[in-house]
Amino acid sequence: MSINAILSRVDADFPKSLDRLFDFLRIPSISADPSHKDDCVRAAEWLVRELTALGFDASLRPTPLHPMVIGHYTKAGPDKPHVLFYAHYDVQPADPLELWDSPPFEPVVKTFPDGSERILARGAQDDKGQLMTFLEACRALIAETGKLPVNVTFFSEGEEESGSPSMIPFLEANKAELSADVALVCDTEMWDRKTPAITTMLRGLVGEEISLRCASHDLHSGAFGGAALNPLQVLTKILGDLHDDKGRVTVPGFYDGVADISPTLRANWDNLGFDAAAFLGGAGLKTPAGEADRTVLEQIWSRPTCEINGLAGGYAGPGFKTVLPASAEAKVSFRLVAGQDPQKIRAAFRQYVRDRLPPDAKVEFREHGGSPAVHVAIDGAAVGKARAALEAEWGKAPALVGSGGSIPVVGNFKSILGLDSLMIGFGLDDDRIHSPNEKYEVTSYHGGIRSWVRVLDALAS
Ligand SMILES: [Zn+2]
Repeated sequence: MSINAILSRVDADFPKSLDRLFDFLRIPSISADPSHKDDCVRAAEWLVRELTALGFDASLRPTPLHPMVIGHYTKAGPDKPHVLFYAHYDVQPADPLELWDSPPFEPVVKTFPDGSERILARGAQDDKGQLMTFLEACRALIAETGKLPVNVTFFSEGEEESGSPSMIPFLEANKAELSADVALVCDTEMWDRKTPAITTMLRGLVGEEISLRCASHDLHSGAFGGAALNPLQVLTKILGDLHDDKGRVTVPGFYDGVADISPTLRANWDNLGFDAAAFLGGAGLKTPAGEADRTVLEQIWSRPTCEINGLAGGYAGPGFKTVLPASAEAKVSFRLVAGQDPQKIRAAFRQYVRDRLPPDAKVEFREHGGSPAVHVAIDGAAVGKARAALEAEWGKAPALVGSGGSIPVVGNFKSILGLDSLMIGFGLDDDRIHSPNEKYEVTSYHGGIRSWVRVLDALAS
């Protein structure tokens, strides 16, 4: 069976693919809102029905919050690879409703002045539209060839927009059932409307909250100023020293294990035509503020960072108060890259702060999250096949992009299931996910379905 026959079927069936996505989008599966608990179950049941109709052995698995959906497809045969496909069926709340141009759970396709056709609905992109690109590709493959070219475990959660509280226990309890050769994660974006992308790097995160206490109570700056230790001054001095004048983080050992990107990756990035001025300009800025000898793409994708996220203490209300505060607080986070151990970074930061404390200053730390970075080896077999498949579809080599943020489930797949993830998605950065008027381009949906047909076919060979 030629791939063209399958792709022609995708094209011919596309209006029906759109209808099915619309059915799915009409279910307001808002995981954060207890009044939509039944809708989450409805969305999960909808998926089980669709998967069962395609020949998957599918079921709904209860958790303390919203159910998981698992579907197994093993008809490709024991000699074929086995992929674990992940997506989430829950969506963000739609508020504020008055800012939507059309009701969030009544999907429509609208043509915009630039000629683009857009599916408008909550979840149109994140993650129902992306999820359906895969399901519709499976449908076309099965309809045209009788079966899928690879074995598939379809895995969907309904808690992603609520912090995935059931994910880790569920993965640990169902390790054997979820084993596969590689995970496919579709919660990512294209480089631009015409250029597909494979996300190969996600930065990790360490968050720390620091409380500094000096005097036993707030003091008068006239009576005590000059003699009493000021915790805001102590804290801002320590925080101000966290970066040197080249923008490098000064915590000892911070860069241990951090490697430069490979020449292949550098060449791919150089070809992206990334416009650093436009990127910063979009935020009202002109000058990169990170490490002086690094490009902006390196600064946001492949280099670790330290940011002060909040600072509190003393008097910041209206008017003026000559207080000499007894305490000060700060929230500091680190974005990590491959080679950095979150616990080591946390310990090194705490030691760095303690080493700089004057007598009479006492510090307390509270941790907020710690996850390592995820790097996918770009010379791996699965990535190579996916690159070729995406290039065949879009007529352009995929961008091998990084993501400054993280997708926690990708780290969980690695640490609990031992699985590398192939991150391919068709969203665009102006899709307004989590915001009013969320959209998914019709070209993303259609091209996404066609892309998965090619990727699954390529992974089988
Ligand atoms: Zn989301």
